[in-house]
Amino acid sequence: MFDLSGQTGLVTGASGGIGGAIAKALHRQGAEVMVAGTRAAALEALAGELGGRVHIGLADLGESNAPERLAKEAEAAMGRVDILVNNAGITRDVLALRMKDDDWRSVLEVNLTAQFRLTRALLHGMVRRRHGRVIGISSVVGVSGNAGQANYAAAKAAMIGMSKSIAAEIAGRGITVNCVAPGLVVTAMTDKLTPQQRARLVEAIPAGRFGAPEEVASAVVYLASAEAAYVTGQTLHINGGMVMV
Ligand code: NAP
Repeated sequence: MFDLSGQTGLVTGASGGIGGAIAKALHRQGAEVMVAGTRAAALEALAGELGGRVHIGLADLGESNAPERLAKEAEAAMGRVDILVNNAGITRDVLALRMKDDDWRSVLEVNLTAQFRLTRALLHGMVRRRHGRVIGISSVVGVSGNAGQANYAAAKAAMIGMSKSIAAEIAGRGITVNCVAPGLVVTAMTDKLTPQQRARLVEAIPAGRFGAPEEVASAVVYLASAEAAYVTGQTLHINGGMVMV
């Protein structure tokens, strides 16, 4: 089950905690992968760990034309992209009353607009081949909201609406578009929390702990697989019961 041999995948934000785990999991299932991010050293370390069937894609997705350029590079390196994992994301947390236009713009740009442009660029080939998987890493806060994260929650909620819309447009072409919405996962993004914040958050999680990046990656492997061919326009929540929707 979940064999991805012969498949090719592009994972953005692969230099980070969840993206790195996703790249490793897709690769372990047999896929050839391009790992993308802005930090060359982190991507080279990951590529070294994976060994063969791996390419590096350096791109700052906040820059204009970067998504289209990365899509072209991935197709050139691997021949085609079967699986796109839109995982790159940033936070610029601040209460809405104090949020600057740039806090809003940069988060929407990297967490939403770049994902739309990357998806649009790679959909052409997927439609031609009548096969593809687009998986967006959204967040529990896209559904629940969270004080201090109006920009981030807006982008993560929009990813879900965007995915459902594109899923409806291309479901007849053998392409599925889904989201995975993690709760709190141990990565650099949650390292910013103080021990007090961490303890308070754990209390709100029925499972009694934060998730591991590998637990998010398993959901991505499933959605990328042939076994999930009839699953589209869905959001799979991986949050230890923190929010049940
Ligand atoms: P992370 O370790 O901070 O990784 C973030 C990744 O995004 C890094 O690889 C980073 O690449 C990439 N990235 C950021 N800005 C970029 C840009 N301008 N251009 C290209 N790549 C960029 O965070 P993470 O926890 O693994 O987060 C991965 C995804 O999961 C994000 O979308 C996040 O919103 C989502 N998520 C995380 C949690 C959590 O609890 N950790 C919960 C829900 C959702 P470089 O470092 O190379 O720039």
